[in-house]
Amino acid sequence: MADEFPFEISPMFEGERIRKEGMHVELAGPKSKGFELVRAAPMEEVEDGRFTLIGPDLKDMEEGSRHPFAMVYKIAGELVEADLESIVERRNHEFQNYIQGMMHLNQRDDVWIRIGKEAVGKGMNSFEQIAKAVMMLFKNELPFIEKVEATYITDMAEVEKQVDNARAVYKARDERTRGLHDEDVDTFYGCTLCASFAPTNVCVVTPDRISLCGAINWFDGRAAAKVDPEGPQFAIPKGELLDAESGEYSGVNEFAKKLSSGEYDRIKLHSFLEYPHTSCGCFEVVGFYIPEVDAIGWVDRDFAGTAPNGLQFSTMAGQTGGGKQVVGFLGIGINYFRSPKFIQADGGWNRVVWMPKMLKEKIFQDIPEDLRDKIATEEDVKDIEALRNFLKEKKHPIIERWVEEEAEEEVKEEAPTQAAVPQAGFAAPQMMQMPANFMPSAMQMMGGGSGGVRIILKNAKVTVDKIIIQKQD
Ligand code: SF4
Repeated sequence: MADEFPFEISPMFEGERIRKEGMHVELAGPKSKGFELVRAAPMEEVEDGRFTLIGPDLKDMEEGSRHPFAMVYKIAGELVEADLESIVERRNHEFQNYIQGMMHLNQRDDVWIRIGKEAVGKGMNSFEQIAKAVMMLFKNELPFIEKVEATYITDMAEVEKQVDNARAVYKARDERTRGLHDEDVDTFYGCTLCASFAPTNVCVVTPDRISLCGAINWFDGRAAAKVDPEGPQFAIPKGELLDAESGEYSGVNEFAKKLSSGEYDRIKLHSFLEYPHTSCGCFEVVGFYIPEVDAIGWVDRDFAGTAPNGLQFSTMAGQTGGGKQVVGFLGIGINYFRSPKFIQADGGWNRVVWMPKMLKEKIFQDIPEDLRDKIATEEDVKDIEALRNFLKEKKHPIIERWVEEEAEEEVKEEAPTQAAVPQAGFAAPQMMQMPANFMPSAMQMMGGGSGGVRIILKNAKVTVDKIIIQKQD
């Protein structure tokens, strides 16, 4: 059946990247508009295999051009229910990436697609070919889908008309988990869809923690595991609660070991700085620790500027992705900002000091009221010094931590012999990946006159195999 297409279809093309030079057209993405949406419908409302295109087709698009792009699929089947929509929607990302010469990034209304020149040269000239290939994969890989039809839209007015409806659907899905919490269920759900490019990724979806791609919540995971228990979404029995504050469970740790092939054996679901959740690369937002103010900033994919640490989203995403547990950076789904357990082990919202204006506006109602004007954006500050001043001026709660830390430092100065042997303050060594340019919190080196050099490491995680200290002759 795959022979009918003028392109190859295989999971081996999943990691294919189409750069600007090799691109025939760009669809949706940060400089245009688009979305993907799957809706469950009654059997009689779906015409199996039907394809509709609203707007110009691929063959009518000039080389190097950019277009709006929306994909709407209707699915039906005896076992099909609304909870499965997100799961099927997420597979659109995977299946489009199976197509040689096609690159699909992100999800929901953040989708970004490129079609390569080579693929067009070999005969890919219509969106119908792509839609038919994806529909074939949906039915082959997800047997609960008995009927599927697709509508693709490349007309800007129509995309704009329909995108609000899609956003309302995403919102309604996200809100379903609001009344349900980690402690109310016995089972979490795992997902291995990103394992092809992030082999040690351990993706755990709980009522209080949406997936980092933002596309799969606890209900979605449950529905998927029910219809296809051998599929990429599966149940994770919670096991014993080891630490409520950071969200550490024995069942999650066991799965972490299994899924990461022994690379990680602890995951704290609601922690930023200690045994954080792994980050695959699909995250909607990346958090970054700012040692100079002992706080956390967040930057999303849509922000093209530079965060106060001098880095852009793409650089930080590069540091964070690949399925690693990276202390100092954390990928999350936007909906995790709405969780009552949002990084609670590290102070929750009281630790957040910066985010881009557009992201802040998106989640404004979910930021605790007393903090809304205390979180800076790119319009308030451009660098760390300005951020520090902003936080002081706004009396952000983070400054209380500075006072406590300064007091601790003073105590240490009064007891130099204890400070020289910093066992109590040192975290136990942990095998964690540290980004190359990440500086542990408030690392300071001071010339100590006749006393030598004193090094203070605060909230630092240090891994050492061996230390040799020798007296210099
Ligand atoms: S980020 Fe997690 S939930 Fe989302 S597709 Fe990847 S593995 Fe699955």
